[in-house]
Amino acid sequence: MNFADDPAEAGFRAGLRAWLRDHLDEHREGTGYESAESVERTLRWHRALAEAGYVGLSLPAAYGGHGLPDVYEGILNEELATAGAPASPPIGHIAHAVADFASEELKARVLPGLLGCAEVWCQGFSEPGAGSDLAGLTTTATADGDRFVVNGQKIWTSGAMWSDRCLLLARTEPGLARHRGLSMLVVDMRSAGVDCREIVLASGSREFAEVFFDDVSVPAANLVGERGQGWRIAMHMLAYERGPADMGWVGRLGRVLAEAREDVRTGRVAADAGLRLRLAEAAVDVEVLRWHVARSLAGRGGGSDGAAGSVDKLLTTRVEQNLYRVVSDLAGPSFVLGAPGPFADYLWSRAQSIYGGTQQIQRQIVAQRVLGLPRA
Ligand SMILES: Cc1cc2nc3c(=O)[nH]c(=O)nc-3n(C[C@H](O)[C@H](O)[C@H](O)COP(=O)(O)OP(=O)(O)OC[C@H]3O[C@@H](n4cnc5c(N)ncnc54)[C@H](O)[C@@H]3O)c2cc1C
Repeated sequence: MNFADDPAEAGFRAGLRAWLRDHLDEHREGTGYESAESVERTLRWHRALAEAGYVGLSLPAAYGGHGLPDVYEGILNEELATAGAPASPPIGHIAHAVADFASEELKARVLPGLLGCAEVWCQGFSEPGAGSDLAGLTTTATADGDRFVVNGQKIWTSGAMWSDRCLLLARTEPGLARHRGLSMLVVDMRSAGVDCREIVLASGSREFAEVFFDDVSVPAANLVGERGQGWRIAMHMLAYERGPADMGWVGRLGRVLAEAREDVRTGRVAADAGLRLRLAEAAVDVEVLRWHVARSLAGRGGGSDGAAGSVDKLLTTRVEQNLYRVVSDLAGPSFVLGAPGPFADYLWSRAQSIYGGTQQIQRQIVAQRVLGLPRA
């Protein structure tokens, strides 16, 4: 299998590198989710990428995307990571769900704002009593003429505090069992009855919120797909959340590894024989992950449906958390006491085994669907 760029991909990569050379420096510092200023700088970076034509690469051109193959998303994320740029906006999973299931009218109405980064979206799935057991969610959207009335609570909603819209998974068919009673709705976050309460993390990130819905009115035209199709759309969406198109993740791990190697090689950091071997092992892991992702992207596209997605997620999590453990042990106590960036990255790596479905749930999927083992 040949993973080299074809001429069109090589041209795209060269153009992107030139754009980054001219524009990255003004956006390089100060992004993140720790303060209102860093959030604003992050959103400004997303808008700059969108204006330059680098958001929605694999989404249809008719709705503000660029109609390119998924591999271009991989090239974008790889180049951003290599250049040390902030990440691209995390909207691919939401955009693919809307593009693949919504009515033409809804797509035309909402996708240009999402892909142009003029509007920020969040994902309203998890609830206090329904994370791993997502099908048990209790937020209701009750049909009432030409609208739905939403009541309930979501939690761990990334970006909710500054979002304009939410892709909400809610129960519309209370008579039907679990998965079959769910639907997906686009909710305007400025609607009366939406109340966001910030959750601050140990890392200092202010990315999360609890979101309360109290008799929130949502036009029936904002239903994505059919009533009762919510579970299918949610699973389609999760396939894109950290799918293989997110090559940047591997690129970023490569940078972390290179910095650790330089620290040891130049003697800036003392490493005994055991730590050196662990660093070597981490290097092998990152290399294997890089090829796995490249192969997935060439063969499967940007999403990774079903058990393949669980394999991707388990592998990525293991490689990332193992690398950060080595980096942490190399730095010693200064890791916690020193510059906040690397320690925050370490803490963030711990979240990897939770979001988009925890480690335990992914292992169960692999045990049952890949290995064919009976339920324990
Ligand atoms: C960084 C980050 C971003 C997130 N962003 C969003 C977002 O934007 N929108 C959103 O809706 N949600 C978001 N989430 C929430 C995420 O989807 C949930 O945290 C996740 O699904 C786990 O649910 P939970 O926290 O309720 O844990 P629980 O489901 O309560 O699980 C607790 C523990 O029990 C284990 N467990 C549960 N059930 C089983 C079982 N059947 N077998 C074995 N072990 C089990 C779990 O593996 C876990 O270790 C985010 C989470 C993180 C960390």
